[in-house]
Amino acid sequence: MARRVSFAFLCWLALLLLAGVVGLPSARSQTLATLLTNGPTDRRINLVIMSEGYKTNKFGQFRTDATNLVNQLLGAAPFNQYRSCFNAFTIAVASNENGSDHPSQGTYVDTYFNTSYDSYGKPEFINLPPDEWDPDPAHGIGRVTALLNSLMPDGGVPILLVNDLNYGGSGGGVLICSRAPGSDTLVTHEMGHTLAGLGDEYDAAFPGYPDTEEPNTTRVTNLAQIKWNVWITPGTQIPTPPTGPQADRLGLFEGAHYHATGWYRPRLNCRMRYQTEPFPFCEVCQEALVLSFYRKVRPLQSWSPTATNLLSTTPQTLTFTVSTLPPSAGVPVTLWWLDNTAVPSATQTVFQVSSGALSNGLHQVRAEVRDATTLVRTDPGQLLRQSQIWQLQVSLTNLRLAIARPTSQTNVSVVVSGSAVHGIVLEASTNLPAWQSVATNAFTQGRFEFVEPSPNPLPRRYYRARALP
Ligand SMILES: [Zn+2]
Repeated sequence: MARRVSFAFLCWLALLLLAGVVGLPSARSQTLATLLTNGPTDRRINLVIMSEGYKTNKFGQFRTDATNLVNQLLGAAPFNQYRSCFNAFTIAVASNENGSDHPSQGTYVDTYFNTSYDSYGKPEFINLPPDEWDPDPAHGIGRVTALLNSLMPDGGVPILLVNDLNYGGSGGGVLICSRAPGSDTLVTHEMGHTLAGLGDEYDAAFPGYPDTEEPNTTRVTNLAQIKWNVWITPGTQIPTPPTGPQADRLGLFEGAHYHATGWYRPRLNCRMRYQTEPFPFCEVCQEALVLSFYRKVRPLQSWSPTATNLLSTTPQTLTFTVSTLPPSAGVPVTLWWLDNTAVPSATQTVFQVSSGALSNGLHQVRAEVRDATTLVRTDPGQLLRQSQIWQLQVSLTNLRLAIARPTSQTNVSVVVSGSAVHGIVLEASTNLPAWQSVATNAFTQGRFEFVEPSPNPLPRRYYRARALP
């Protein structure tokens, strides 16, 4: 089934123009119900499943159908390893009648999004306005957008779940699928387009579709320039014969992007080549999908301390922690660096450093989180790794007092050296129990010389330097 990307894009544009003047139905009466939550909506891919052709008394069925759909979608590789990247919600909107239109059979029902089968002459192609039968986007895609903007302002992937037992659906800006068994495989295929920008690996012509390569389609036949060549085992024939001993390898198979010749795909079979067959996504498509997950969901979820400029003025143990995606998302690896030197023993999400063991001055602590999944071999955008850096200023008090020495018959000099982040006070005493200040805030680090300002007739005098708190 051909994508409706450009078609849907025009629809969205039209919607933007029309939304201000068309009286879109109020979304206030609808509410969002949670099916699956794995994190905040601004940091997850939110699947938002809306009911189409379900009367109010079918809402229980809708929730069951939606739960089954989510389980099917996230059960397919690579989604099954990255469930933690997804949230799922339902929006139950009532239709006046059950089902969907089947124009080829003369069947028309009154439903909220006015969907129809038979679009583009294909019985299984479910569309929503604007389409061949209803040109008004406010009756279809406008209602989807209004609900999404109202109830999921952080954005989501809208999926219309159609209460019809005839197999069908479509992709584009809005994913559509019926509750018929097997329709979920179609949505999984369409998610490949929507999330990862994958291309159809079909041979069937699509006149007018742009000849733009996707991550899984190419016209290149030179092995060194094939974008997925890291997945191709040496010795694989290029192009790869679709029959014989190499047919089950990953290679370069002719037929893709709506061309039977001159365009190539990575594997003989893939979910992006067939919608109805439950073939898995090929390695190249899975890699593109995982990268797409990490464009929305970052591997580093939070860190502590949240402040990234730290100051240590007393010897202490400083604890740094990071939290990564839950384990279902690949295999998270955490590494730590201190002053750009890797700490080999530090591979956990907690790292401790003693400021007393560091010299005074600026230090850097860095955590790097990386998904070590084997599903991705090429990550030019470094999407699978993320670093967090803390700048640590260590200013521990470390004072030394030089022996007082006479500078003349009656005066003495006292030298203080070292560091004290808040300065020092230099005090003097004739008897030790009683002290008086003779110089305050003289310095924070380096060397300070104090000379008695006037002739000092005292036979004995003691000095001490004290760091200010
Ligand atoms: Zn593929």
